[in-house]
Formats: sequence, structure tokens, C-alpha cells
Amino acid sequence: MRYADMRRMWWIRWTVSLLEFRCSAGQRHPVEIRRRKGTRHMRLRLNVKNRIVVSSPWHRSDSSCLKFIDQNREWLEQQIEQAPQVISIRQWLQRSPRLSAAGLSLAVSIQEAGNRRACYRMDPAAGSLELRLPKAVDDFALDQLVRKLAKDALSRRVTELADRLGARPRKVSVRDQSSRWGSCSSRGTISLNWRLVLLKPELQDYVIYHELAHLSQMNHSSKFWALLECYDPQRRTHEMELDVLTRAIMRVRVTSTEAPGLV
Ligand SMILES: [Zn+2]
Repeated sequence: MRYADMRRMWWIRWTVSLLEFRCSAGQRHPVEIRRRKGTRHMRLRLNVKNRIVVSSPWHRSDSSCLKFIDQNREWLEQQIEQAPQVISIRQWLQRSPRLSAAGLSLAVSIQEAGNRRACYRMDPAAGSLELRLPKAVDDFALDQLVRKLAKDALSRRVTELADRLGARPRKVSVRDQSSRWGSCSSRGTISLNWRLVLLKPELQDYVIYHELAHLSQMNHSSKFWALLECYDPQRRTHEMELDVLTRAIMRVRVTSTEAPGLV
């Protein structure tokens, strides 16, 4: 890392710790300022961890960033009020104890496996999925196990659907993207968000079809949408359903694997 980069990182961290936004109700919210050389305009958003983020040109001062926030106070307070809660995987499963794999919605139970390693047992015929953990209350182990299940299940599902369509992805990776459901590179690598296992099977498949369609159409042209509609005739309905759910599901966080400090 160059010295200039180190200085910049230090400056961003130091700035983050200083700024905060106090809303009309009196609550304090930390503000993160992201200064980048190429940024030309200030931009304000609430990220998936419900933190206020200002993207700012490099030369703008802290006070001008705060002034910018104040000018958008009404909008920001509305965003804070409407934002879904940031929750853990366990909290999500307590509210909705189902995960999708192999085109099925499976009823989840969390069980204690004693001294054995964490593992999952899927019973498609019974429509059930057991998550076995050395200690049932261990959130870290639960996060890791759900991520492993997502990696296995989504990779298999891509292969299955690709085979049906005669599509040939080069590689599939399952990651912890903060806002995207999936992507497809020009080299044919499909990257999927592990949170797809939290969606119902039809929506999970829709995202996979979307990325598979990108293997032959690397754009969102009319040809692309026509192809996607062949893959998934319900694609418009699925897209709308996904839009409604995205804000909440992206706020299901795997806190244990995140580096401290910057978001
Ligand atoms: Zn796309």
C-alpha cells in the first residue's frame, strides 16, 4: 500500500469517528464520509447496515458534508424511519424458519450435534432441513453453516438450470454482496448472493435465470429480456416481488466475518 493510500484510509477513519447526525427525535446516528478523488458530486444514502454514508469529492470539508446532510434532512429522516431493521441470520430464521434449496422451500430446524462438527441434513421428500451445530446457540457457527449450505445449494441449482437450458457458465461463486443479488462477468463467471437461500424457490430461480441469460446477452437489451422471458415466463411478477423484499433481506447480516472499521 502506498503512503498516500494509508493516509487517506486514516483520514477517512478519523473523520468517521467525528461526525454524527442528530435527527429531530434527538437520536444520534454516525455518519461515514467517503472521499474519493474521482467523485464529483455529493451523494447521501443509508447503507444496508443502516449507516448514513456521504460520498464526497476529495476536497470538501466535514462542515460542508454536514451542511449537505442538513439540506436533505427531511428525506434522510424518512429513510431512517422506513428502513428495515438490520438482523442476524438467527433472527431471520426465527421469523421465517424456511430456506430454499434444490427448487424447494424447506422447513428449518436448528439442532445440537454435541461434539460433532456443524453440518446440515436435507430431506427433500419430507421438505425439511436440519442445521446441526455443536452448540445450538452459537451464532457464528450458524452463520457459517447457512453460508456453506448456500454455496452448495446455489452452485448445484445453477448447474441444474444451466443443463436444462444448454447454458455453460464457466464458474459459480457465492458471496456476501451488500446490495446485488447476482452478476455475470464477460468471462462467464456467475456470482450469486448467499441470501438467495432466504428467498422462495421461484425468486431464487429467477435470479439464476437472469444471470444465465447474461451468458449470451451481456446487457439489458430487448433481446436479453426476451430471452429471460423464455427462461422464466413469470419474470415480471418475480422482479416486482424481488424489489419489495430486497431492502429487508440485504439487511440480514453475517456480522462475524466482517472486518472492523470501514463498511
Ligand atoms: Zn442483469
